[in-house]
Amino acid sequence: MQKLLYYLVFITLIFSCNKKKDIPKAGIAISFDDRFVKEWYQLRPLLKKYNAKCTFFITQPDSLSHDEVILLHQLQNEGNEIGCHGAIHVRSMYYIWDFSLEEYMKNEIFPALKTMKKQGFYPKTFAHPGGSQMWYSDRELLKHFTLLRDVSMKTRTLWDFDYTHEIEDIDEIFHQRDGTQKVNALLIDTSAKLTIEDIKKGLKRASEEGSVMMMFGHKPLSETTQKVNEYGFDIKFLEQILAESAKLNLKTYTMQELTNPL
Ligand SMILES: [Zn+2]
Repeated sequence: MQKLLYYLVFITLIFSCNKKKDIPKAGIAISFDDRFVKEWYQLRPLLKKYNAKCTFFITQPDSLSHDEVILLHQLQNEGNEIGCHGAIHVRSMYYIWDFSLEEYMKNEIFPALKTMKKQGFYPKTFAHPGGSQMWYSDRELLKHFTLLRDVSMKTRTLWDFDYTHEIEDIDEIFHQRDGTQKVNALLIDTSAKLTIEDIKKGLKRASEEGSVMMMFGHKPLSETTQKVNEYGFDIKFLEQILAESAKLNLKTYTMQELTNPL
């Protein structure tokens, strides 16, 4: 009997040593901010073509029309995530300086959650308007959300100086699936002046290290409808990103999925 027991332990050990270590599946996570519901809805054929899921962060949900709520539900039913982007769209850091954290939660967060709940949405993730995370507000926000998303850019201007990074060197836009709840996504709007070559470098890194590259934009723009200085991303650029990701067999994640245990 004892021999049999030893034998069983031995076999178990062999199998557990041989078991391949689980490597998180490399991917991309794309999100869109504000309230361009009808324009986002038009992206469905493109998203379907690449079997891509996205996250839509809604601001001022109380201004959504009944039709827009229905469109968002359809997007959600198809595997996309509906996240929260605040009730009044303020930059948290400045708002808290001017008022208080309590006022911020009372005016920016709770009304948004309440309205969205009434509309049948239960947002789990939050995108900071204007990108202004700080530990003081984030500690409070994490009582209500599982993930907080901020903004990252290839080029940042500080005191009139431009600081440019190669995409593959911006560590903060790669989620390592390690439980990180405060994240940054790379802005892909036309204002960021990214090329597909930039993106390819980032995708290559994600693919090699098994991380998830996070990107975000605002309004989908096409050559025919785009107005001067409109803030948004080129739909063709999004298609290029999805096509390059597909070539590398990268999976698409919603923001909430990034916090799921592996
Ligand atoms: Zn916004």
